[in-house]
Amino acid sequence: MMKTIFPGQTIGIIGGGQLGRMMALAAKEAGFKIAVLEPTMDSPCGQVADIRIVAPYNDQTALEELAEVSDVITFEFENIDYEGLKQLTEIAYVPQGAELIKITQDRIQEKSAISESGCPVANYVACQNFNELVKNIEKVGYPCIVKTARGGYDGKGQQTIHSSSELELAGPLFEHSACVAEAFVPFIKEVSVIVQRNKQGETYCLPIGENIHVNHILHETIVPARIEEKTAVLAIEAAERIADYLQLIGTLAVEMFVLEDGTILINELAPRPHNSGHYSIEACNISQFHQHIRAICGWPLRKPKLWSPSVMVNILGQHVMPVTNSLLKYPDWSIHLYGKQQAKKNRKMGHVTIMTDDLDHTIREIEDSAIWAE
Ligand code: AMP
Repeated sequence: MMKTIFPGQTIGIIGGGQLGRMMALAAKEAGFKIAVLEPTMDSPCGQVADIRIVAPYNDQTALEELAEVSDVITFEFENIDYEGLKQLTEIAYVPQGAELIKITQDRIQEKSAISESGCPVANYVACQNFNELVKNIEKVGYPCIVKTARGGYDGKGQQTIHSSSELELAGPLFEHSACVAEAFVPFIKEVSVIVQRNKQGETYCLPIGENIHVNHILHETIVPARIEEKTAVLAIEAAERIADYLQLIGTLAVEMFVLEDGTILINELAPRPHNSGHYSIEACNISQFHQHIRAICGWPLRKPKLWSPSVMVNILGQHVMPVTNSLLKYPDWSIHLYGKQQAKKNRKMGHVTIMTDDLDHTIREIEDSAIWAE
């Protein structure tokens, strides 16, 4: 069943975080109404939604209520219960389906899907338990990174192992779920491609972002990524190939490692708008959020164009005060704060996008700034 959704109709969003908020803001510009399912009352998305359903994401009655009020349903995070989402597809219009969630919430399935699509991943083995890790680790060698198959984010649920004597450090990860052990990749850069596709199969990628992490959390996205043309071609080809293989509807963020020789390996996928695509709100003729709404509503997609080189910097809890104190000095900063009350350390509170004619200068300015020193 394929539908076209029009302004005045209601888009239901599962998850009330900043990604939902920015989807909602984009949709509301065109006159859509927003319903959000989120367990907390005062969520970033709840603050801008027309209808709030305050309940756990997997609450059956709440999902039925969301189905009742929504003409189309999307999600802003991937750790939704697969069975619950699958049931929802039977009583509501969920054009993205449930299968992509099933694949991307499990690193083992995700890596097989990427490989089956014909794209390269780091050498890895899937291990159901610690004994399997011990038995199979030599297929990967050292150093390697053991990652829980389920539930990890921002570097949580990961352990780097340098030699067999350290292997037992990975033991506790198996209390959480099965794991993958993957070869440590000596990458020179990390980049991401946000690919978006509608039911008609129209597919577009946003300009490639170069991502700089600090303490495993995204700090900066630089656009365009400072990579060779041949690497850019490989990155776009890979993202489109994966989108096509998965018959994507909506948004997929494809995170990649760039190697010394200019080739790439795919690290992981996120089936939703992504932090590394926030720059597109100001710096492109179509933001990842507008394009996502177009895709799930069955509208034709727009070919993305970059207006200007840009840097996006995340505002974590510890940066809120210094950013607020400085922002009157920087008319070129577009500031986004997500409406979260508690500025806890390392919590994503907002971001700044800076469009610039001098990328190197702007990057240096951010590096030298006391604001992001912590
Ligand atoms: P992930 O949760 O898989 O995105 O990993 C978080 C971060 O850890 C990545 O953005 C990389 O900086 C680093 N990382 C993950 N996997 C590897 C790997 N196989 N080799 C080297 N660094 C990695």
